[in-house]
Order: sequence, then C-alpha cells, then structure tokens
Amino acid sequence: MALPAPQPRSSTRRAAPGEIACAVCQAESRQVTFRAGAPEQAPDLDLRPGEPLRSTMGHWLQQCPRCGYAAPDIRQARPSAARVVAAAPFRSLVNEATHPPLSRRFLAWAHVLEETGAMHEAAEAMLQAAWTADDLNRQDLALLWRLEAGALWRSGPGLDQEQQVRVVDALRRAEAWDGAADAIDAMLAHNPPEAVRQVLALEGRLVGANDPRRHTIASALPPPARRPHAAQQNIMGRGSLFGWLTRWFRRR
Ligand SMILES: [Zn+2]
Repeated sequence: MALPAPQPRSSTRRAAPGEIACAVCQAESRQVTFRAGAPEQAPDLDLRPGEPLRSTMGHWLQQCPRCGYAAPDIRQARPSAARVVAAAPFRSLVNEATHPPLSRRFLAWAHVLEETGAMHEAAEAMLQAAWTADDLNRQDLALLWRLEAGALWRSGPGLDQEQQVRVVDALRRAEAWDGAADAIDAMLAHNPPEAVRQVLALEGRLVGANDPRRHTIASALPPPARRPHAAQQNIMGRGSLFGWLTRWFRRR
C-alpha cells in the first residue's frame, strides 16, 4: 500500500498512553523502544555487531505509519526533515515495492540524513540497509548499497581510520577490487597503528583472493586473540573498531 505524502497537523496534543507522536507529521503510533544489549561475538570487519545484537535490526529504527519517516526515535527530527519527507524522492523511496520493507526503513533514514547534510551518518544507515539485504540474500541490493555507503562516507568531512577501514570493507564486499586495493594502499601510506595494519593485511589478502564474503575482526588478529565473549560498547560502531582491537590486544 502506498504511503500518502504527509500533511502536517496543526495540533500538537500529547500522544495517547503507549503511543508516541511522529516529529514530522504528529501522527501517533505505537512503537517499540529498542535498548541494545552488548553483543558477545566479534563484529564483522565493517563493524556489524556480533550476536545477539546482530539479529535485532528489525528494532533499530522506528517508522511512522502515516508519513514513513524513519529514525531511531521518530519523536526527534532535524528541522528540515519535514520538507525531505514530503518531497517526491522520499515518497518513491518508501513506496519502492521491489525493496524489502526493512531495507526501505534504513534507506528512508539514510535519505533524510543525506538530505540534511549528515553524510557520515547517512553512510552508516546505508551500510545498515546493505546488512538487511545480506540477511535476505539480496546480494544485488547489498552490493549497490555498499557502494553508495562508500560514496556517502567519501562525500562528507575527512574520514578517521576506522571509517576508512569500513570504506575498504564496503568496496571489497561490493567486489570493487581495484578501489579496495587503492584504499588499502592509501591507508598504509600513512603508517597506521599495528592493529589497523593487521586488519588491512587481512583485507588485502581477501581482495587478492577476490573474496567478497563476511569476515570478523577476530579473524584479522593472531590466533591467541581469537576468543569469544568480548563486549562491544557501541551499537553503531563509532570508536568501536579501535576499542575492539585494543581490548583484543590487551587480552593476549
Ligand atoms: Zn509521521
């Protein structure tokens, strides 16, 4: 069923018990508030968290049933979000029936972030859309959205090393072998820390073998570091690659 374009309501009355009001169109709906538990397994090289958090993506974003606005908390919206949500590109995105519904939710959030200038956050949401495609064996979509995530990261402000590693992994998993190899060389030219070099070495081997599959951070490190049950603190990954690597190395 196509979602109609939102018509902002003038009323800002309080939401009924158990329901929350969408910050874009003020429609009230019942939404699950997700509280992330710590994953126990190592994250993928692109920092997709390990289980049990890995399997909870259906709860990471709320979506307004009226206007289609999607966000971790739809009670919050950037000032220009209403304009973006009402515009034709967003309407066609949320109504694109050939894309899986959960993927569309992440694409919708990515689009709002991109259109409001939050390029790195948009890249993150786009990568998460690729993860939903992975889970549904839609490799065609996963490949496309990984390339878009990489482009979004590169169109924003300068990237830190963790973000650069995630671009490398997005390119590799999208089978953009030359682009991934170039990105690895560019990072190595800046003499990164040992832990980052180990991850890049694994990425380089995988690129050399034309391997687009998922691998975890634990597999980038020497065998003594491959232990289960380490905690990852940040669901969205910011800062967590180095956190992970530091913790793994400390345990050795
Ligand atoms: Zn709404």
